[in-house]
Amino acid sequence: MDFFFPDSQDQIDPSYDFKREASSLDRVRQRDDRYAHEVISPAPYTGILLSKALVDGPGSKYTFAQRHRLYRHGVRRFFRLDACEGPPLATLGDCGAFNYVREEKPPYSVEEVVDFYDECGFDYGISVDHVILGYIPDATEVVRPLREAPQEWIDRQELTLEYAAEFLRRHKAINASFTPLGVAQGWSPTSYAHAVQVLQQMGYSFIALGGMVPLKTAEIEACLRAIEDVRHPETHFHLLGITRTELVKHYERYGVASFDSTSPFRQAFKDDRDNYYGPERKYLAIRVMQIDANNRLKRRVLAGELDQNKGRGLERGCLDALAAYDRDECSIETPLEALATYDNFLGEPDRQAEYWRTLHDRPWRACPCAICQDVGIDVVIFRGTERNKRRGFHNLFVFNNLLHKELAAA
Ligand SMILES: [Zn+2]
Repeated sequence: MDFFFPDSQDQIDPSYDFKREASSLDRVRQRDDRYAHEVISPAPYTGILLSKALVDGPGSKYTFAQRHRLYRHGVRRFFRLDACEGPPLATLGDCGAFNYVREEKPPYSVEEVVDFYDECGFDYGISVDHVILGYIPDATEVVRPLREAPQEWIDRQELTLEYAAEFLRRHKAINASFTPLGVAQGWSPTSYAHAVQVLQQMGYSFIALGGMVPLKTAEIEACLRAIEDVRHPETHFHLLGITRTELVKHYERYGVASFDSTSPFRQAFKDDRDNYYGPERKYLAIRVMQIDANNRLKRRVLAGELDQNKGRGLERGCLDALAAYDRDECSIETPLEALATYDNFLGEPDRQAEYWRTLHDRPWRACPCAICQDVGIDVVIFRGTERNKRRGFHNLFVFNNLLHKELAAA
């Protein structure tokens, strides 16, 4: 099963100095910053998913210069994929349909999307689609459907299928070299199965299943079971945007050959509990808030609610105690007390029990990834983008290893 990591221009600065908390003065982001596949070897994913909406859509994360570098050099050189050791990384393009889900129609023509994939040199390209936001369980003998699907959903499915047909025609007309994937959008097991059937008739053997992000696990499985009834033996699926990644290994039997997910990366700094992936369990990262950089704290300082100097001292005390603990110069009590004092000063919740677990287990010492080997305890400190993204890279490493181990065991 192939795991694609969606690009969001997440890179780290290898020159970053954790003691001074500053980058090197001669750092050039575009030249010096590194993607996860350049830091962790072999790469912690099968390939990169790049959404056209991210490159040139309304919510684009690309600067003018980046966009032009991508068009000029192609996707492989842009991400420096061929400089990586290990098996070659694959590239998958899509439109990023969630970015325009509120629009009446996708903002791209089929022609411009096929040309985008072809000119950038993608390995795989996903046809233009329009997400259906809604789910209605199928009628069974016991339960009748609560309501009929709204016309808008039916229109979106038909539009997506029309685009898929046009996508294949354009692909053939320009003799494009990427492998095309048609998208199945639906609102129920039966409607997904219908879309898959139509796409197979068009000639697709790779099909992306879209719009499943908001669905519950049981709903995703109901759809996969219905699709299984119509699937040709040679048809394989890509699951677009999976958040419950722990379940994905069970989907292999339904012909799911690949998926993409940002969850392992984003949990590093978006989750309330599971920030650092260990091989056996997940850990809470240790929050040391920046009194001079955190907007909420800055406002409280300005309002006279917090003594900034005192806060700076306590914050420094936490970082020093954590560093000393990692050098085995003090017991676990020293950083725990420093953290309790600072959290109490800020009015933050008591996280001592979770912090004890993280510090006691020291999972970064047992982790062979390049991040943990390089930065030690800083990988579990929830603070600033350089630490948080490194923890995200580490999570990708652990997730990818576990996935392949579990698949091999199954
Ligand atoms: Zn690690």
